[in-house]
Amino acid sequence: MIKKDIYTKLKILSQAAEFDNVCTGSGKRIKINTYNFTRGLGGIHYVWLSNGKCLPLLKVLYTNFCINNCKYCYHRRKNDIRRTSFTPKELAELTTDLYRKGYIKGLFLSSGIYPSSDDTMEQMIKTVEILRREYGFKAYIHLKILPGTSEELIKKAILLANRVSCNIELPTQESLKRLAPDKEQKSLVVTLAKIKSLKEELEKESSTSTQLIIGATPDTDKTILKLSQNLYKKDLVKRVYYSAYIPVNRDKDLPSEKPPYLREYRLYQADWLLRFYGFSLEELFDKEENLDIKIDPKLRWALSHPEFFPVEITKADYWELIRVPGIGPTSAKRLIEIRKKEVIGEEALKRLRISLKKVTPFITIRGKTLFKGFRKIFIEKKTPFKRYQTLLF
Ligand code: SF4
Repeated sequence: MIKKDIYTKLKILSQAAEFDNVCTGSGKRIKINTYNFTRGLGGIHYVWLSNGKCLPLLKVLYTNFCINNCKYCYHRRKNDIRRTSFTPKELAELTTDLYRKGYIKGLFLSSGIYPSSDDTMEQMIKTVEILRREYGFKAYIHLKILPGTSEELIKKAILLANRVSCNIELPTQESLKRLAPDKEQKSLVVTLAKIKSLKEELEKESSTSTQLIIGATPDTDKTILKLSQNLYKKDLVKRVYYSAYIPVNRDKDLPSEKPPYLREYRLYQADWLLRFYGFSLEELFDKEENLDIKIDPKLRWALSHPEFFPVEITKADYWELIRVPGIGPTSAKRLIEIRKKEVIGEEALKRLRISLKKVTPFITIRGKTLFKGFRKIFIEKKTPFKRYQTLLF
């Protein structure tokens, strides 16, 4: 039987779920379940895993005490808020109880830092040890590695959790200095590098992620994606999550408004183009430093490069095909396979669930186009950008 005061703690510590701009970034949150499952508590977040599964997780802080004073964070030292901590036993019991009742399928555990990273991390690890060893909890666990955690504790975390992550939070050292003076980008990247080398040493295959807050500083989309690209190139993270800044504190250094939701979305699209579509940063930002919020970055690139189109889909290679708006890696691979066995036509595209509306302005099939505006767009090459948009939407 879970004691009443543990639910009170859960209520306070799961509030972090509503203020994503703390050490709690996670997989893309699609919904916060506010169902009154345990006397009016929240804390359940649905996250997408890399294998496509969607899991309800208990997302909670071990403690909301913190020695740091990050200006964008609700839990910063300076704020006068209700504070509490679990004990490892309490949190392990609570997680097991919610799991047995079928409310959650795993745990996402982060924390404020109190009194030090190692002290807090030790308590978080104890919680997971109790879960794994005493309660035989085999479900998904995501552990946040606090900045500056020692190697010994990172090792334990890697062995116990399904996934670990460490947030870089802001894209440049200057921004960190201004908004999170207790943190240094270099040491956060070093923590990610330690995680990588320890995973190799332990031969543990699991993905590492990080979170960047967008819109709290004037950093441009290009700066943000440049950092992500470097992290991917060095194989320090499998995934960067972009989390739109939420104003929870008043401070002269902070904007008073959230960035538009679409900015976060466009960053995810551009990140995808860099990782899986062979685009370079320079191609996405040939003139501007920020992505165009009104239009998908792949379509934006296509409309600015009429010289690349039309793509002849009966001959184009994989990399050419995936540059066509409306064709992704899966449909490009399937198209190449099908093309070996049959004559490609409109029917085959429909079968592959490729949207004719999206692709026809950009392709030819055996030299012929299915799109009426084709001559204007790609042969005359005179149509201004606005006209392209009118034709396409
Ligand atoms: S370290 Fe900074 S972001 Fe994390 S809980 Fe403390 S004040 Fe918040």
